[in-house]
Amino acid sequence: MTEQTPSTNKTDSCEDEYDPNSLSVDQALIRIKEQVIPLSSFEQVAIRDGLGRTLAKDVLSTINVPAFTNSAMDGYALQHKDIQSENSTSLNVIGTAYAGKPYIGSISSGQCIRIMTGAAMPDDADTVVIQEHVTREADNIVLEAKHKKGQNIRLFGEDLKVGEVALDKGEKLKAADIGLIASLGIAEISVCRKIRVAFFSTGDELRSIGETLGEGQIYDSNRYTVFSMLKSFGVEILDMGIVKDNPESIRLAFKTAANNADVLITTGGVSVGDADYVKQTLESLGEVNFWKIAMKPGRPLAVGSLGDCMFFGLPGNPVSAMVTFYQFVQPALRQIQGQKQINNTTIQLKCISTLKKRPGRVDFQRGIIFTDENGQYQVKTTGNQGSHVLSSMCQANCFIVLSQDSGNIEAGSLVQVQPFEGLM
Ligand code: AMP
Ligand code: MG
Repeated sequence: MTEQTPSTNKTDSCEDEYDPNSLSVDQALIRIKEQVIPLSSFEQVAIRDGLGRTLAKDVLSTINVPAFTNSAMDGYALQHKDIQSENSTSLNVIGTAYAGKPYIGSISSGQCIRIMTGAAMPDDADTVVIQEHVTREADNIVLEAKHKKGQNIRLFGEDLKVGEVALDKGEKLKAADIGLIASLGIAEISVCRKIRVAFFSTGDELRSIGETLGEGQIYDSNRYTVFSMLKSFGVEILDMGIVKDNPESIRLAFKTAANNADVLITTGGVSVGDADYVKQTLESLGEVNFWKIAMKPGRPLAVGSLGDCMFFGLPGNPVSAMVTFYQFVQPALRQIQGQKQINNTTIQLKCISTLKKRPGRVDFQRGIIFTDENGQYQVKTTGNQGSHVLSSMCQANCFIVLSQDSGNIEAGSLVQVQPFEGLM
């Protein structure tokens, strides 16, 4: 049964706006958080293979960064006390320091050295004046007053000291993190092992690409969106194909997944129609945590477990499947990997569209963030919000999140917005 189809069973309906049996979105997120057990096994990988993975142990600095005090600019290294406060100062240039080729020796009062960015400062110099601020005449420079003591210098250990935490465990590694680890001379890191995620689509109407469509049949798109979102996430993927709407096939697929995966995701068959067997199979083989959420789209969503395997039964409508993946599966996958940051980012923007909304559920409407003529970010609707309209997800670059109690939204109101990050 779809969300649009009237139900004959009043207590199990997915149609009413107010449904006492539905969990709020916030409660559902809490229940999922309570259910997740983060993976405890990790593996050593070369740092380049660590991109997008989750750090399993703190990275401690093995060296001081910088390892020596050095110049931040191309210029002249000198003693600040030599600079005259009223008149211009003339200093004798007695040598040059390059990055990787320091100046050997010391400088005395009235002297300076030419110094390049990254070159070690001689011990007795404390200030660098950039080359644009001096006049060079043969082996002398002339500079004006107004230079701060210690300017343009990177101090020994100012970024990191030996033994300090350079990166916390639970960090999802980005390019800058990989570079930081490399700057410490570290070749390998401990990351959480990859999560194994199995998924399949349910539905007798579904056909795979390459097959001919008969009467009432459609191509299976959820397997491709779920696959793509999982791929962006960097998990190990077990694609189990299409499973027919019959209890025995679903049962068998559940058992196979439970034996081989940390997480099972299905789409379709989770509502209260005559061919919806997902929830009852979960009940008989595992445990149901909850199965209805006060949200739109995506109210029927079965979350539970099959032994150690976490289960997400997403709705079949293509938009509903993506929304529920984004809102619930994604934070859970982050938490399973031990990531620190598990919630989706939400910002507030002015919405230029009028939005239709009935109180009773949280709406995740598809929106487009754009810049107005003043360079300000604003948001507008993609239009048709039907949970079957996958093209609305293609146009969108964000969800407009409307709270459970809110009604219609006037154009010009501030709304909560989740910009799509990474997965979509
Ligand atoms: P269900 O949740 O099984 O009742 O399905 C709800 C709607 O989503 C129906 O119109 C299905 O045909 C459609 N649907 C279910 N699974 C898929 C899929 N894998 N790809 C595209 N549409 C689907
Ligand atoms: Mg179905």
